[in-house]
Amino acid sequence: MIQSKLPRVGTTIFTRMSTLAAAHGAINLSQGFPDFDAPEALREAMARHVMDGHNQYAPMPGVMRLREQLAAQLQRYRGVSCDPDTEITVVPGATEGIFCAVMACVRPGDEVILLDPCYDSYQPSVELAGGRAVHVPLQGPGFALDRERLQAAVSGRTRLLMINSPHNPSGGVLSREDMLYLEALVERHNLLVISDEVYEHLVFDGRAHHSALQFPALRQRSFALFSFGKTFSVTGWKTGYCIAPPALTTELRKVHQFVSFVAVTPVQLAVADFLAEHPDYPATLAAFYQRKRDLFCAALGQSRFSFTPSAGTYFQLLDYSEISREVDTALCEQWTSERGVAAIPISVFYEQPPPRQLLRFCFAKNDAVLESAAEVLCRI
Ligand code: PMP
Ligand code: GLN
Repeated sequence: MIQSKLPRVGTTIFTRMSTLAAAHGAINLSQGFPDFDAPEALREAMARHVMDGHNQYAPMPGVMRLREQLAAQLQRYRGVSCDPDTEITVVPGATEGIFCAVMACVRPGDEVILLDPCYDSYQPSVELAGGRAVHVPLQGPGFALDRERLQAAVSGRTRLLMINSPHNPSGGVLSREDMLYLEALVERHNLLVISDEVYEHLVFDGRAHHSALQFPALRQRSFALFSFGKTFSVTGWKTGYCIAPPALTTELRKVHQFVSFVAVTPVQLAVADFLAEHPDYPATLAAFYQRKRDLFCAALGQSRFSFTPSAGTYFQLLDYSEISREVDTALCEQWTSERGVAAIPISVFYEQPPPRQLLRFCFAKNDAVLESAAEVLCRI
């Protein structure tokens, strides 16, 4: 019989909560996906390319016309140049890109530092590569970097540091000072970095997103991951990209070509067309989602939850310690079936969950849905 390589892994919390929400007809603010559609021009471009017969394999690293647009976007939004030929790889979702990057650089016995709470795919990717995840919790209500613990976690076997900003599930963003600190740390210890930046355009209240690609020593050592699912509201198209220096990209592609080989062709052509015509579209996202965050938070004003409005992502954490002492996983199930609102418990993103009562709610939803959800939450 098969002996599991991931004995502690079950079905992801996102699948479980969305299934439970559907079973109970609950408002689903659990799994992160928009309940509104992508821009019409993008959907039209997709349909056109499918009907025009662009349905066979793309080049392994991605359609060049798209990669050129992505390089232009990096220049436009981050002031950084990159070579679309040797530094950009289009992947079937950031999850695949992260997996391939981990596989490309982690060897059996290597240690990989993860900052908890962290996205659920990181640890299994590290384990499948034979590595060992070393978890360093983010600190305090603000989920700040704990520099002392981070420094203490680095050993002679540390190969890789995985970071995520804007951060899922906390909604926190790393500051320029944080990035400078990390830059010095990885340089001092010769570490590689996976920088998960899938929510790069979702930063609020005038904050800036600081990409690893903007800091020279991080730029040299980082695989930076992005996702069209977030930027264009097409999570079901499962396409993203990785930007990394040529030597890292070469190794990433060696893995990528045998995990999936390529990303979906008409998606790549559609996004290339859309970006050529609407290069400013990503810049509209911050205001769009900030308004939704504000609407959701304002509607919760009379509730018994406490919260700090998210700095980024499309997630809002709510603290329920005034309402219940129940553990978050049980409470999410209970509220989904009994109250009709589904959220994500954040303890599942920790190796050792701290004693905090926090749930994650996705506000990438139509206003009426957010208002209905808030109404229910105010009655709890
Ligand atoms: N990283 C983070 C932090 C995420 O929230 C997600 C969720 N979508 C991903 C990676 C994966 O993105 P994709 O759907 O493109 O695989
Ligand atoms: N990234 C999404 C979230 O955090 C879900 C992705 C998934 O379902 N795997 O909710």
